[in-house]
Amino acid sequence: MAASRGLCFSLARLGARMGRSRPPLIHRRGVSSCIDRKSAAPSALLGPGFGLGPRGPVAMMGPLGVSCESQLVHWSFKSSQSERTPKPGVLVSNFPLGFLLNPRKLASSDGDGGTLRFLRCSRTSHGLTEEQKEFQKVAFDFAANEMAPHMAEWDQKELFPVETMRRAAQLGFGGIYVQPDVGGSGLSRLDTSVIFEALSTGCVSTTAYISIHNMCVWMIDTFGSAEQREKFCPDLCLMEKFASYCLTEPGSGSDAASLSTSAQLKGDHYILNGSKAFISGGGDTDVYVVMCRTGGKGPKGISCLVVEKGTPGLNFGKKEMKMGWNSQPTRAVIFEDCAVPVANRLGMEGQGFNIAMRGLNGGRINIASCSLGAAHACVQLARDHLLVRKQFGETLSNNQFLQFKLAEMATKLVASRLLVRQAATALQENRSDAASLCAMAKLFATDECFSICNQALQMHGGYGYLKDYAVQQFVRDIRVHQILEGTNEVMRMIVSRNLLSEI
Ligand SMILES: Cc1cc2nc3c(=O)[nH]c(=O)nc-3n(C[C@H](O)[C@H](O)[C@H](O)COP(=O)(O)OP(=O)(O)OC[C@H]3O[C@@H](n4cnc5c(N)ncnc54)[C@H](O)[C@@H]3O)c2cc1C
Repeated sequence: MAASRGLCFSLARLGARMGRSRPPLIHRRGVSSCIDRKSAAPSALLGPGFGLGPRGPVAMMGPLGVSCESQLVHWSFKSSQSERTPKPGVLVSNFPLGFLLNPRKLASSDGDGGTLRFLRCSRTSHGLTEEQKEFQKVAFDFAANEMAPHMAEWDQKELFPVETMRRAAQLGFGGIYVQPDVGGSGLSRLDTSVIFEALSTGCVSTTAYISIHNMCVWMIDTFGSAEQREKFCPDLCLMEKFASYCLTEPGSGSDAASLSTSAQLKGDHYILNGSKAFISGGGDTDVYVVMCRTGGKGPKGISCLVVEKGTPGLNFGKKEMKMGWNSQPTRAVIFEDCAVPVANRLGMEGQGFNIAMRGLNGGRINIASCSLGAAHACVQLARDHLLVRKQFGETLSNNQFLQFKLAEMATKLVASRLLVRQAATALQENRSDAASLCAMAKLFATDECFSICNQALQMHGGYGYLKDYAVQQFVRDIRVHQILEGTNEVMRMIVSRNLLSEI
């Protein structure tokens, strides 16, 4: 009981810190389910089924996860053998998951030791305040309980998990770095990074969409008038409504300032014509933050308008088929004589490109943090696999080449995290080097974390290539982080320009 009471207390404090006038978090579904774990019987926690393991058919755990450093990412196993139900109490597993059967151990996981055995040297809570550790724990628990059990299904069925995201928003994750007076959580960029890293261990694609949504709400919160903030932010923070960021066009990707979607002023409306490509959430979201041309060529001719779904002339292309990020739709957003009130313009005419780039500085930290979460999960999955898979008469973990590879993966993960957190702090402090650090963090972390996940897949051998194993989904989902929110070549341009412009 003591552990439960402690968690209740800390969650209540988190609610107070987040400054929201909502019921205490303890009453909310996502969190109460993890609090109840202590008293739950193992059978209630584990949904057994059979799957194909490295040594043949095995009974596997069903949906479940544990918190913080002991986080194991779980996924449903489905195979031709999966229809059989194992005898109650019998667990045959090729994976070192035995400790998961003990709910007491789950309830006492504290993120800083205790029963936690994994990833000590790459611990995610190093250097964090007690308060940040609490946000982190809430996010890890949410990822484990509400996301990880579904990530494979969301991917395979291409489901946009609206209700799950609304539950995340109930915890304050819909407007993490948005001001509290319009429903935001008022947390820092570093807090945000910690939260997105943790959430991503449960589903990269869904967390990445939540991060884009957060970026849009922050743009409205920061550059919007009092009326605009009041009109849009509360529903967005609760994820009653969802947002999309619309910059890229078919003819302007890396050269975003050359965009051509036009917005002509006619009375008290802008008439939009043109199209945006690759818009995350496009068609399923309610609020579109659109960069468009109200003036001459170049960045100074660009303004930012908020376009609401249902506006006549706002249309969508077909849902794109993607190799990853399948739990969020991607569509073209098309404007055909779409009349948008001048009252929906964020900031001044000509300020749009600056607003877009300011949003992306944070967006890049967020996306990099999502890559950290994937890499964190994959180091753990690789470690677990090496410890159980036997070849040449011994476990793979006895092979020094693979030991060294694992060490390199953990080293790259920790280095990436340090850089991401440094960039987050620079942005929070509004430092002059913030944009460059955000670009460095995005470049370094998304490249290194992809390589970590890919190496983890390699360590799984052929099993890593099977959809029964989560590692392949992490690889597919984070590949795009090297491309969007500015490609990693563009990140190099930003950093080198900064270096070369200095005296
Ligand atoms: C799944 C997905 C979701 C997305 N979501 C959004 C979204 O929500 N909103 C949005 O606005 N956009 C979104 N994008 C678009 C994304 O930001 C762009 O794809 C990205 O900026 C690159 O633009 P591009 O695809 O036109 O590539 P291009 O600009 O055509 O680049 C092609 C290649 O050339 C390289 N390159 C280009 N110029 C140079 C140069 N000068 N020097 C060196 N290399 C160069 C690029 O780095 C890249 O490798 C999304 C994309 C994807 C795939």
